[in-house]
Amino acid sequence: MTNKISIAVHGGAGTISKKLLTAEKENAYLTGLKMAVDAGHKILKDGGSSLDAVEAAVIMLENNPLFNAGKGSVFTNEGMHEMDASIMEGKNLMAGAVAGVRNIKNPVVLSRKVMEETEHVFLCGLGAEELARKCNLEFMPPDYFFDSFRHDQWIAIRNTETTQLDHSDKKFGTVGAVALDSNGTVAAATSTGGMTNKRYNRIGDTPIVGAGTYANNKTCAVSCTGHGEFFIRSVVAYDVSCLMEYKGYSLKDACNEVVKNKLVKIGGEGGLIAVDAVGNLELCFNSEGMYRGYKLNNEETICNIY
Ligand code: ASP
Repeated sequence: MTNKISIAVHGGAGTISKKLLTAEKENAYLTGLKMAVDAGHKILKDGGSSLDAVEAAVIMLENNPLFNAGKGSVFTNEGMHEMDASIMEGKNLMAGAVAGVRNIKNPVVLSRKVMEETEHVFLCGLGAEELARKCNLEFMPPDYFFDSFRHDQWIAIRNTETTQLDHSDKKFGTVGAVALDSNGTVAAATSTGGMTNKRYNRIGDTPIVGAGTYANNKTCAVSCTGHGEFFIRSVVAYDVSCLMEYKGYSLKDACNEVVKNKLVKIGGEGGLIAVDAVGNLELCFNSEGMYRGYKLNNEETICNIY
């Protein structure tokens, strides 16, 4: 027992530009982040597992249209919503992931079903949706996912070859959470609508274990956000863990090396949140900002954007 608990969430790295952020919008983002941190923290405080905590935090963010996951997912080139999600726990290295799912209210819940109800780790498209039906998960009609801001982003670029990360000019979306529970187990979960105008069936780093999400009690739990193709090529989440496991890096040094050095060198913009097995947290990004929040033990919840 460590008796220490900590949780962090992100709502995307590459926030809305400062100049477009009204006080009202800022408040809405910060409130959304705080609600997610507090939902996860309550579970940890009551002795619940880090897996339950990260799932609960991500559900809050998926249900909030401000963030590019679940309800707020961006539009694909066809004007649809295709979502990716994954979850992992660090004690037994169990993981589940889904890619390219449509109409599922909470893809993170489905990723956990893959982990717990099947012998597989990763399901995509119709097969994943079939599992959702079997597990009685909630499906929503297309208009549930409609958001006029994201629709305008798509209309502006749909006849081009450009894909765009969430928000205005060159922005990211995606939500995620990492946590340490009082039994010393870490967990991570990540969920996204991907990139605006992405190709049919394009899959980013979010559902890829080791790229967008990773958890291992020996080292840490990591959830990423950013330009997925670079995060896949850099195997970001696992790289942070490896630097700790094989090179003895601290959590902070490992995150800085990957986000501020390795990713920058290949042009990969974004960030990550991570927690180690003794409860240290890192919220690290190389973009202008990252929607983020955290709570250590019973300290105050802290949320920031830039
Ligand atoms: N990493 C996500 C993807 O490439 C996007 C994001 O984090 O905004 O699908």
